[in-house]
Amino acid sequence: MRRKLAAGNWKMNGSLAAMAEVRALCEAHPAPTVDILLCPPATLIWPMASMRHDHPLAVGAQDCHAEAKGAHTGDISAAMLKEAGATAVIVGHSERRADHGETSQTVAAKGSAAIANGLLAVVCVGETLEEREAGHTLDVVGTQLADSLPEGANADTLVIAYEPVWAIGTGKVPTLEQIGEVHGYLRAQLADHLPGDADGIRLLYGGSVKGSNAAEIFAVADVDGALVGGASLTAEDFSPIVSALQ
Ligand code: PEP
Repeated sequence: MRRKLAAGNWKMNGSLAAMAEVRALCEAHPAPTVDILLCPPATLIWPMASMRHDHPLAVGAQDCHAEAKGAHTGDISAAMLKEAGATAVIVGHSERRADHGETSQTVAAKGSAAIANGLLAVVCVGETLEEREAGHTLDVVGTQLADSLPEGANADTLVIAYEPVWAIGTGKVPTLEQIGEVHGYLRAQLADHLPGDADGIRLLYGGSVKGSNAAEIFAVADVDGALVGGASLTAEDFSPIVSALQ
């Protein structure tokens, strides 16, 4: 049985003042029956991890470097994130693939470093609008998945997030059939790559999830939760998504 996961990606948003939102979220879900993960900017990992006390909310990062240390100005290693209080890290988000030229091979190396350091790797895949309109969605996500798989990946160390690039921050959401098609395909691909682990690996949908559409998306087969951007920034917006998953 896969445990559901509501994950939030704050991107480059938030400040110490936003810890009030985290407190409110914890108060709204004092004993959640699903996993909740918030990934704030790196500067907020320690404050967020420190203020949640004994609440099971997990704190994650949005990226890590593949190397353990060295001359990589501005980068942060997986071990550093762990020391700051992170237990997970998103790798291969489409904004990093686009803005920082990250290839799936880079993503795999980052994910491998995350897992080697005891962090849950949340690996993102997703097609652009052009790729979907050309009928290449399954080829694109299948290739990204195969090439992005980290070493040490299993049901405890890996989560896959399917995030169509055209649905991120746009208010556009694929049809439930389209989501189901891609999630079913990813599950089948995982069975090829990681037989024995595929059934336990959680598949998140991401892209304009909000309180009003969460329940119908979560009812789709092979959707084990969501990776949420904009609607994860406040307790008011994220709490209904967590509730829809429980
Ligand atoms: C994201 O950035 O991962 C995301 C899904 O964003 P949004 O929910 O805002 O579309």
